[in-house]
Amino acid sequence: MNIMKWFKVNNIENGVYAISEPYHWEKARSYLFVGKDKAILVDTGTGLCPLKPITDMLTELPITVILTHCHWDHISSINSFNEVYIHLKEESWLKNGLPLSIESIRNTISSGGYDSDKCPNFDLNKYTVPTKDSFHILKGGEIMSNGVHELEVIHTPGHSPGSIALYEKILDILVTGDLLYKGTIYANYPSTDPEQLYKSYLLIKNYQPKWVYPGHNDDMIGGSLIMEGSELLEKLDSLGKLKHGTGNYHSEHISFKF
Ligand SMILES: [Zn+2]
Ligand SMILES: [Zn+2]
Repeated sequence: MNIMKWFKVNNIENGVYAISEPYHWEKARSYLFVGKDKAILVDTGTGLCPLKPITDMLTELPITVILTHCHWDHISSINSFNEVYIHLKEESWLKNGLPLSIESIRNTISSGGYDSDKCPNFDLNKYTVPTKDSFHILKGGEIMSNGVHELEVIHTPGHSPGSIALYEKILDILVTGDLLYKGTIYANYPSTDPEQLYKSYLLIKNYQPKWVYPGHNDDMIGGSLIMEGSELLEKLDSLGKLKHGTGNYHSEHISFKF
């Protein structure tokens, strides 16, 4: 089956899967938490290949999708799923689309390259970002349960206004979307906010998770990366650099682009 060429599935824990897309330059991650009565899927990938056959393979339970934010590389398979949650601040993006031209999104998709042999049915010139009419709203503070895992919703704006992170106490993990991963964190578009990003790092620092499940590049990274990012942001704050257009800043594993 062609679909299996595109995705890689890593069974991180009992009932917990990282689903990655190693043949697209963004190396996006989605996470599936299989519970008792349902499964929770965090993000739905780039859409270069449909994700649903993979989740069908991993569980027969009904799936609730939680989106870490509404960027194209996290939402492109949403219309394969009925029950979708997004933060209030990105309700209009999910309903009406991102305030970006489809040409610029197609350019982003192809800019770092992808292996078209691994997703033979994908046509970049026909790619559009899906929208959805019917979905549920998160405000932060909710506990999303599948009967086994309890994911606490934390509003963490900065990379986007409605970005959320999800903390799971028993696994001691934090799902961070594009708030934190190894690589360059983008807070340079008009809809980003470097100061809010710093506040979100201060917030997630309180959770001190053992592991982070990031939105890109790795299936899991150490929780100490939160401290590494926070320290750099704290320094940038003291220098008055938490503003658009001030530049790119690097620590050992993380860069911030303002
Ligand atoms: Zn993003
Ligand atoms: Zn992303």
